Amino acid sequence: MKYDVCIVGSGAGAGPVAYELSRAGKKVVVLEKGAFYHEKDFSKDEIAFCRRSIVTPHLSEEYHMIEDLEEGKWVARSTRELGRDFWNGNIVGGSSNFMSGFFHRLHPKDFRLKSTFGPIDGANVADWPIRYEDLEPYYAKVERIVGVSGKVVPWKYQEPRSTPEFPYPPTAEQPVSALIDKACAALGIASVKTPRAIMSVPQGERSACYYSNYCGSYGCSSGAKGSSRAALLQPSLKSGNLTIKTGHHVTHLLTDAKGHVRAAKCQYEGKEVEIEATLFVVAAQAMETSRLLFNSRSRRFPDGLANNSGQVGKNMLFSGGGVVSGDLDEKNLPKKALFTEGLFVNRTIKDWYFLDEKTKGGYQRSALGACQPDSQSQPQQMDPERHAAMGDQAAGEAAGALHPKAQPSV
Ligand SMILES: Cc1cc2nc3c(=O)[nH]c(=O)nc-3n(C[C@H](O)[C@H](O)[C@H](O)COP(=O)(O)OP(=O)(O)OC[C@H]3O[C@@H](n4cnc5c(N)ncnc54)[C@H](O)[C@@H]3O)c2cc1C
Ligand code: SF4
Repeated sequence: MKYDVCIVGSGAGAGPVAYELSRAGKKVVVLEKGAFYHEKDFSKDEIAFCRRSIVTPHLSEEYHMIEDLEEGKWVARSTRELGRDFWNGNIVGGSSNFMSGFFHRLHPKDFRLKSTFGPIDGANVADWPIRYEDLEPYYAKVERIVGVSGKVVPWKYQEPRSTPEFPYPPTAEQPVSALIDKACAALGIASVKTPRAIMSVPQGERSACYYSNYCGSYGCSSGAKGSSRAALLQPSLKSGNLTIKTGHHVTHLLTDAKGHVRAAKCQYEGKEVEIEATLFVVAAQAMETSRLLFNSRSRRFPDGLANNSGQVGKNMLFSGGGVVSGDLDEKNLPKKALFTEGLFVNRTIKDWYFLDEKTKGGYQRSALGACQPDSQSQPQQMDPERHAAMGDQAAGEAAGALHPKAQPSV
C-alpha cells in the first residue's frame, strides 16, 4: 500500500501532524522504532523506568558519539564508553510520555533573538522565519487539544494571548505554593502558576490526574498527561485513517530519479521492509532525525537529505539550567498537607526572563525534591579494601553520584 503521508517517529513532533492530517482524510502511517504501551502498561517501577531504562535501547547496542574539546582538540567517545545516555523514550508517543508537562509559551522576543539581542561570537543565533503572532492561534489550539491546566497570572513581560484563560483549571497544589506566593508578593515579583499539560478534570476518554507522585520520567496510567500518544495519536486512530507501525526502525529514506523521497527503509523483526508514501515527515527527535537524514545520502544528495543549508545536525541545544536547593521551615507549613504526596508546587518566577535590553535571561521553576526512594539512594560504595563502605564514609564518597536520569518528578 502507498500512504499519503509517512511520519517517522511518534513523539511530540509527530503527533500534531498525524492528528491533523488523519482528520483531514489523508491516509497516514506512523513508523515508530519502539512498542505501543497503553495506560494499563505504565507502572511506577522506578528501577525499571529510571535505572534500567526499559523503554530505551541498551547503550551496548545503540550508542551515540559525543565530541568534547580536550586541550584544544575535539575528542570523540561513545556513550557506551561514557555511560551517558541520551535516549529518553522509544515507544509510541516518544519522550512526551515521560515529560513533566510544563507548558510555557515562548515570548515574542524569543522569535527574534538575533535582531533583539544581537549575534554571539561562535554561535549561530538566528531569528525564526515566523513571529509569535503567527503561532499564537496554534498555541491556543494546542492548549485546548493537548489539554493544558493553569491560570493566567500576568507577569512582567506577559506574552499576548487570544484566550484570556487556559482551557482547564489548575492542577491541585502543595501548600508550599502559597508560601512562594507570599514571599513573591513581599518582594513585588509575580508568582506565575506553571501551566501543565495535565488534565485537572476528565475529558473524553482521558481521566483527570490522580497525583500519582511519579510524573516526570514515568508514563501516565490515567491518560491525564498530554503525551502525543494519549492526546493525539490514540484519538486519531478512531478516524480509520491512521496506521501506527511499531518496531519499525527507519534506517534510510530512499529517493526516486527526480530526487523525491519515495520510501522509508526500515528494520522490522530482523528483516528489511520498505514503506511507500507521497509525503514524508521526519520527527525522530533532533539527533535521530539528523542521523536519518545523513544516512540517506545519495549521489544527488551527498551531504544528506534536506541539507542544502549545511545546517542539519548543527546548532543543537539542550535545555540549559542549574539547580538550587533549600530547606523549608516546617513551622510555616501544615505537616499533614506537606506530606501529602503527589501534589504539584507549580510556581515559576519569570521576572528575569530578560536581564536587560541586551541580555536574555530565563526563569526559575520550583519543585519539591523527588519523593521516590530510589532516586534518593546512592550506588553501593567500596572502601579501599573493596569492602562495602558504610555510614559517613559511604555518604561522603557517594555525594553527587546520582544517576543522570534520576530527577525531580514534580
Ligand atoms: C523526563 C522528561 C521530562 C520532560 N519534561 C518536559 C516538560 O515538562 N515540558 C516540555 O515541554 N518538554 C519536556 N520534555 C521534553 C519533551 O518530551 C521533548 O522535547 C519532546 O517529546 C520531543 O519531541 P520529538 O517529537 O522531537 O521527540 P520524541 O518525543 O522523543 O519522539 C521521537 C520518537 O521517534 C522515535 N524514533 C527515533 N528514531 C527513529 C527511527 N530511526 N525510526 C523510527 N522511530 C524513531 C523514537 O522512538 C521516539 O518515539 C521532557 C522530556 C523528558 C525525557
Ligand atoms: S501525576 Fe497525574 S499526570 Fe502525572 S503521571 Fe500521575 S496521574 Fe499522570
